[in-house]
Amino acid sequence: MLSRGNAIAQPRPRRKAVLDAQGTIKDCEPETWLTPGAGMLTQYRHDLVEMELPELEQALESMGHARFHARQLFQWVHKRGVIDFGEMTDLGRDLRSNLAASLRIGMPELVRKETSSDGTTKFLLRLEDGQLIESVFIPDTPANTFCLSTQVGCAMKCGFCLTGKMGIIRNLTAGEIVGQVHVLVRELHMLQSRFNIVLMGMGEPLHNYDAVMKALRILADEHGLAVNPRRVTLSTVGVLPALERLATEPLMPNLAISLHATTEDQRDMLVPINRKYGLKELLDACRRFPVKRRERITFEYVMLKDVNDTDEDARRLVRLLSGIKAKVNLLPLNEAAGIRYERPSDARVNRFAQIVAERGVTVSVRKSRGRDIRAACGQLITESTRQKSPGQRLATLMQV
Ligand code: SAH
Repeated sequence: MLSRGNAIAQPRPRRKAVLDAQGTIKDCEPETWLTPGAGMLTQYRHDLVEMELPELEQALESMGHARFHARQLFQWVHKRGVIDFGEMTDLGRDLRSNLAASLRIGMPELVRKETSSDGTTKFLLRLEDGQLIESVFIPDTPANTFCLSTQVGCAMKCGFCLTGKMGIIRNLTAGEIVGQVHVLVRELHMLQSRFNIVLMGMGEPLHNYDAVMKALRILADEHGLAVNPRRVTLSTVGVLPALERLATEPLMPNLAISLHATTEDQRDMLVPINRKYGLKELLDACRRFPVKRRERITFEYVMLKDVNDTDEDARRLVRLLSGIKAKVNLLPLNEAAGIRYERPSDARVNRFAQIVAERGVTVSVRKSRGRDIRAACGQLITESTRQKSPGQRLATLMQV
């Protein structure tokens, strides 16, 4: 879909990251990049966007500045979207240049923006190490929604998901997750507008737990964008230790579980992590999950023709969800080249939905948005299309 040759900035060396069992980045080389004419430059300035307000206060204090400047800085960046120290007019000139010498404000770089016929807009973003991710704006669903990535690629390898084909390249940092919101807010002129966030872009959020939760805390901070966690939905295949940890968080997003199957065998095949954390254990964890009054866990169910779309599947699904405050979201497969499954007919989807609804479970069918620009669920992919020639890229696009 895009080529390295179009790079706007100098390609930067890839950051070497070591992931632990939970997928958290444990060890990173200092970020280094090449500056034409200056040779190799090591970038030691801390990135302000990676910091929660208390961390920023501490950083300022250790630099010999008053703590209250941290709040001003945080507001400039997160509330007003200003990322140039020079424009922060309520900070003294000396302080501004001092800050600029020791801190930086990292933002993903917008490479391309594509708008679908239904208004869905896909943003291709380049991170500091040259990796590419996608974020999507989905208008009026009924609220405006930002769909964010949490990893470059994904390790989960669900059989019907294009992102899974990329494999995992690395986790995003908290700042890179927050940065996606800032780019979308800026590009869509939405600083004063409300929006929802769904963590349904590239990656498995619970495979990058610490960065995701930190990003949600930064986004929720009342001195910044003040995104209420009730407007955030975290979608997961069910990485059980992380799900148990999420259950204890003071800041709790809405939960969506990518279920997709009604038997262990079926789920082992479609969602490989099921072989480690099975369906039964996952549903038990959901039963224990603290769900607020009047709220429910969403169970996402990708519908695959002749695989998991029978009447019996629908009845089994309802039985599995008994005792859970649940609603079901059916996702008729977004077909793509390289995915061997097919989308069931609308009649089949409707019949399935009817069976679920008749048994008292709320069910909705996800209207697929942005399919003409490959912005729909499971269609976000940047790595494997990157090296293709323009002709190959066009061919890939036309297969959608
Ligand atoms: N990793 C997380 C979030 C990313 S995907 C998760 O799995 O929940 C968001 C949703 O889109 C998931 O339910 C995912 O299974 C679904 N999805 C993936 N590929 C799809 C496809 N080709 N068609 C429809 N939905 C898909």
